[in-house]
Amino acid sequence: MSSIIQELHNKLVNKEISCVSLVQEKLAALTANELNSVNFILNDYALNLAKKVDAKIAKGESIGILEGIPFGIKDVYLLQGTYSSASSDFLKKYKSPYTATAIQKLLDAGAIPVVKENCDSFGHGSSSENTVFGPVKNALDANKVAGGSSGGSAVNVAKEYTAFSIGGDTGGSIRQPAGYNGVYGLKPTYGKISRYGLMAYASSTDCVGPFAKSLEDLQLVLNTMAGKDFRDQTSFDSEQVTNDHLTSGLTKGTKIGYYKNFIETDALNAEMKAAFKETLAKLEAEGMEIVPLDFFDADTVVATYYALAMAETASNLARLDGTMYGNRAEGKDLKEIYSVTRSENFTEETKRRIVGGNQVLSQGHSEEIYNKAQAIRQNISNKFDEDFNTVDVILSPVTPNPVPEIGNVMKDPKTMYLSDAYTVGFSLGGLPTLTTPVALETGLQITAAKRQEAILFTTANFLKQVL
Ligand code: GLN
Repeated sequence: MSSIIQELHNKLVNKEISCVSLVQEKLAALTANELNSVNFILNDYALNLAKKVDAKIAKGESIGILEGIPFGIKDVYLLQGTYSSASSDFLKKYKSPYTATAIQKLLDAGAIPVVKENCDSFGHGSSSENTVFGPVKNALDANKVAGGSSGGSAVNVAKEYTAFSIGGDTGGSIRQPAGYNGVYGLKPTYGKISRYGLMAYASSTDCVGPFAKSLEDLQLVLNTMAGKDFRDQTSFDSEQVTNDHLTSGLTKGTKIGYYKNFIETDALNAEMKAAFKETLAKLEAEGMEIVPLDFFDADTVVATYYALAMAETASNLARLDGTMYGNRAEGKDLKEIYSVTRSENFTEETKRRIVGGNQVLSQGHSEEIYNKAQAIRQNISNKFDEDFNTVDVILSPVTPNPVPEIGNVMKDPKTMYLSDAYTVGFSLGGLPTLTTPVALETGLQITAAKRQEAILFTTANFLKQVL
């Protein structure tokens, strides 16, 4: 798949299509869609912007590469004046007072938001069924889940309802739905893109990232959103990923690592295991050096992630109590207002995480759970530092199993949490990691050392050619 953005840009510049008709076409497809990928369609907002682009083209002015390109936004980002619900009852009628930095950068480049996309409520989930807008259906098979939490964004890109979409990834929420719907999805290095205006789930691993059908588009959108923002002190300036990075090809002898225990386990589906091993063999035949590595067991990584993610989300969501944001239930006193508002407006899964998180942080337990999880997280980070002294990239499956049917995932939270085994560790390490829709049913994950996004693109492009 070549660049959809470039193709649409050419059509706009050559006047083969007007921006208004392009946007209308996307709005109509989103309106007609039966996959529940949509929370709010931005009809007027998008058409107003499209008219301005058409006026510019009519005057003979040049337009930027992203100008007039329709894109989608996971419904956890603020876009001033539009609803931002986090797929919750709590914020169903909440209008954004300002715009997230990453989204503002896309607006400044002229891209046009057409939709706020369905997702797991507050990012809590791995299937996009934990939402008050109805479960998102997979783009390739409507009986299956879209993956989560950024399921709507992945589906919209797969269906070309949007040229690209912006998801959020705390523990796999871009990479996993990208794999489930056969598109590219990138979680950049923690801090590469400002989190300002992204509703916080677990602040220490939350990342902004793009979905796209081509590496070219992924790269362009990444470059546009990246950079230091004084409103997010964890953000930093970084080098752009260039076309040369994309096309340079992997040099022979590139060291490709993989975690043995990710592969040599019965928890990995047999066909996916075979496909992964075959991929390693092909890469070896291409002259790459394959390096087996040890890693923490999946139970430890998943437990560490969920202890910390639940603690952080319990803390972050404490601000939703009926006073400042969203819905409010009445009660006889303040305490009752808080408890009724929170009981009625959070989903079961979100409540489970708040209760779990408060347990993790509570007096008498925090030393035993929270502090221990922080210590293991540090060990995981140190292990990554060590490993990237030895290898250039690490290859892994995205998920241990093929895409599940709708209706099964949420029945068993523990199994759902374990299905995140391959994505959450890299989040704890803050590493850049990319899903490329090749080889395995749910794609392959490529991970590099911090700030080394360029080699992810080089590797993904190489895999596209050789596999
Ligand atoms: N599935 C993971 C969770 O529920 C990751 C979600 C995310 O990245 N937002 O925590």
